[in-house]
Amino acid sequence: MNIPSKSLFKPAQIIMNNLSYRKKFLFLGALSCSALVFILYGFITTLNHVVSATSDKLTGLTLIKPISQSIQSIQIHRGLSAGIIGGNLDEMRQSRAITERLVSENINQFEKVLPADFLQLDEWHTIQAEWRSIEQSGLNQTLAKNFSVHTLVIKHLLDFEAVIAYKYGLTLESSINEFYLHDTIINKLPQALELLGQVRAKGVGILAKKSLSADEKIVIQQLISDLNLALASLNANLLKVATLSNSVDLALVANTQAINNVAQKMINIIEHDIYNRLFSTPPSQFISLATDLINQGYASLYQSLLPASQILLTGKISQAKHSLLTTFIIATTALFITLYFLIGHYFSFNKNIKIIQEAANNFAQGHTSEHIVLNTHDELAQISESFNTMVDGFNNLLTDSHQNALRIQSIINTALDAVIQINQDGVISDWNQQAEVIFGWTKKEIIGKKLYELIIPEQHRQAHIDGMKRYIKSGLKKVIDTRLEITALRRDGHEFPIELGISHIKTKDGHEFSAFIRDITDKKQSDELIWTQANYDLLTGLPNRHMFQNRLDQEIKNAKRSKNLLGLMFLDLDHFKQVNDSLGHNMGDLLLKKTAQRISMCIRDSDTVARLGGDEFTVILPELCDFIDAEKIANHILHQLALPFQLDDEVVHISTSIGITLFPNDAETSENLIKNADQAMYQAKSSGHNRFSYFTQAMQDTTLARSYLITAMRNAVQNNEFIIHYQPIFDLSTGKIRKLEALIRWQHPTDGLISPMTFIPLAEETGLIHEIGDWVFVTAAKQLKQWQLEFNPLLKLTINKSPIQFQSDRGHQHWLDTLKELDLASSDITIEITESLLLESTSKTTEQITNLRLQGFKFAIDDFGTGYSSLSYLKKFKLDFLKIDQSFVRHLTPDSDDAILTKTIIVMAQSLGLKVIAEGVETAEQQQMLTEAGCEFGQGYFLAKPLAASDVEALLALSLPVPELI
Ligand code: C2E
Ligand code: MG
Ligand code: MG
Repeated sequence: MNIPSKSLFKPAQIIMNNLSYRKKFLFLGALSCSALVFILYGFITTLNHVVSATSDKLTGLTLIKPISQSIQSIQIHRGLSAGIIGGNLDEMRQSRAITERLVSENINQFEKVLPADFLQLDEWHTIQAEWRSIEQSGLNQTLAKNFSVHTLVIKHLLDFEAVIAYKYGLTLESSINEFYLHDTIINKLPQALELLGQVRAKGVGILAKKSLSADEKIVIQQLISDLNLALASLNANLLKVATLSNSVDLALVANTQAINNVAQKMINIIEHDIYNRLFSTPPSQFISLATDLINQGYASLYQSLLPASQILLTGKISQAKHSLLTTFIIATTALFITLYFLIGHYFSFNKNIKIIQEAANNFAQGHTSEHIVLNTHDELAQISESFNTMVDGFNNLLTDSHQNALRIQSIINTALDAVIQINQDGVISDWNQQAEVIFGWTKKEIIGKKLYELIIPEQHRQAHIDGMKRYIKSGLKKVIDTRLEITALRRDGHEFPIELGISHIKTKDGHEFSAFIRDITDKKQSDELIWTQANYDLLTGLPNRHMFQNRLDQEIKNAKRSKNLLGLMFLDLDHFKQVNDSLGHNMGDLLLKKTAQRISMCIRDSDTVARLGGDEFTVILPELCDFIDAEKIANHILHQLALPFQLDDEVVHISTSIGITLFPNDAETSENLIKNADQAMYQAKSSGHNRFSYFTQAMQDTTLARSYLITAMRNAVQNNEFIIHYQPIFDLSTGKIRKLEALIRWQHPTDGLISPMTFIPLAEETGLIHEIGDWVFVTAAKQLKQWQLEFNPLLKLTINKSPIQFQSDRGHQHWLDTLKELDLASSDITIEITESLLLESTSKTTEQITNLRLQGFKFAIDDFGTGYSSLSYLKKFKLDFLKIDQSFVRHLTPDSDDAILTKTIIVMAQSLGLKVIAEGVETAEQQQMLTEAGCEFGQGYFLAKPLAASDVEALLALSLPVPELI
């Protein structure tokens, strides 16, 4: 069936889908029954109509004979009257009188059987009146008149007959045989007989008067012509009737056909006797011949045609009734059979459905062997078959799954993993043999206990409970269906690593979880071992090449992010091979171990030392502030490794060559950095071993310059190349010199005057600062004493002391001895220290400051404002002077931020009991502003530059002695 026709049935499908089978059957049964009843009703109505119409015709037929008899008798009356009027024939008078009575009787007879409604008709009254008029007028009229009045009443009677026939349906809606039969009875035969009657009347009249007028001849000729036509038509009809209707007496039909012959005789008499005016035939003979002839016609009507019609109609009625009955019986039977089968089908369907339903219910309740047997061969039987197949399939599956369950149980029991089953409350419902082995609890002991109470370490219990709750509530998987490594608890309280996989199933009772647990203690240990072997050098315990590479990559990333400097060192022991060759590999290994230890001691916590193999080591130096830091570490390592090694009984001396490269300066990738460091290391080797070398020439140059300077500086002390310049410090309120700051310079024999900014850091680094510092102190103290004596006894000295000097344990006895020797008060000397010293102060620093103060030395904080600028330190160490750094003074203009800051520092320092010295006064304006701000002292190029002693003397000579004391 194609798609449009499917959609054509859509409404039917919708209705049917909404009905139960009971309703479907009722609906279809009602539909087919009503269709059958409807058809039956239509059929019965049709047949009933046939029966009633035919019955009407039969009734009508009973009226034909009396009216025909009336007509027949009036026709005879007309003929006899014509004979009497034409020739006064007495022999006919009696017959006429008898006939007249007969007419009246016939009419009365007819009136009796005529239904009342016909009696009311005007036509009937007219006929009665006309006949009464004929009766009354009698024979007192002309031949023509007699003919016309009789013919008129006969015509009216014939018309009336036609009305009756029409009313009873004789001439309507009939079959072909019925049509010809009734047409003969109603039309053809009466018309022919009437024409014969007219010829009879005309012929008798003429023969009686024995004369023939021209008009009469024309009339009679016309009549004969009409008669011939009527007879021909009658004959044709009769032939049809005889052939079509079995019930017509064929003999009588033949008899009626004989009329033709007699009629022909009459016509012959007229043509021969009357047209020729012979008038030889006696009228009585003519009338008798004609009357016989006509009576014969009527006889065939009464005895043959009317009975034939009656038989035809009666047969038709009984046939219709018979059909009606047959149809009714068949239809009713069909209806009952339909209903019978429909109901039977309904019961069978219902019963089968119930059987299927019951079987399905039984199956659902666990009767898994349930089968359906239906005594049908329809689609329900197919459904049952499918059900049975399903049951068989299910039973097979059940058997399989049972076997599988057994198989799984046996697998679980023999599994190498612990398999534990818990419900949604964490209660253990299954526990296999391996679980017993791993956790130490037997199945019997643990079933029904809470999992987390026994095998989950306390610190993880809450997380486990929360995780299960969360999963059950939200279905959010965090650990379900994944593998994770956690720790578990053994019965003996020991925690050990496990690998855990959890699966989950939703059961009818809630949730069930299966945990698959593997003790991975061994695996962890071997993993660790593998990891260690993969990342560490077995001999020295240092990271190996692999880990070095990882760390370097990581540190490069960090340095990129933080924009820090990163150093990479390559170390190679010089002549290690000789140790190996001469003392053996064991000694060589021992040396490498000790070397590793010494290198490790030289580095910061954040640095990484690695052994790449053989006698090759690397050091990663992240977060370098300056490349010099790398150099310091390199020097430290060189120094440490240069110290003798005690290897068993042997003392071994080695040296090392180090290559240094920097990120990002030299390279940005680990690969290039390693290449650079290696190259730099070879450079160090080729430059004579026991040294380090930078990868970049510029840095190498700087380093060389530094080491040159350091060497030169060592000699400078012995060669007296240092000199001191003194920068006067003025009292701003009076403009007098109050103090002199001793500032060291290096008078290099070839390089000229070198700034302390260049060599002090190197002196600090190399430790020469102690020696230099002492030299400055002694020299400046002597100079002060001299100037006090020479120019001003109140003159003071201020000297700079490096933080490094405070780290030494050498004490200040030498200083005190000097002062004593010179007879100089320690209070004449101010020691300038930096903020950083106070900030990073150790107990040693604090102790030294305290001691020096106790000895009478004054303290000044130098370059204040460049560092942390902490007030709390100023308070804690009870200092005497605060030197505002040049950077503030340099930008001192009215309303500047620095002006505000400077004023604040002055007020703050004074409130803490410190006197303020402004450094770097370069303009008169700065001096004036500082003076106005209440700053006590000023130092700077505007006032006086650091000067050689001779220049200071010239200045002091100009200066007047200052009366006040500071
Ligand atoms: P400092 O102690 O702050 O000394 C002041 C520095 O400022 C001196 O530089 C001085 O020449 C400079 N100066 C003074 N007035 C002005 C000025 O108006 N404008 C400018 N631009 N600079 C001015 P110098 O002599 O080069 O000393 C530099 C630093 O070296 C000193 O800073 C001090 O920290 C250190 N230093 C000098 N001599 C010694 C010493 O004997 N021992 C120690 N430990 N450090 C010393
Ligand atoms: Mg200073
Ligand atoms: Mg300073």
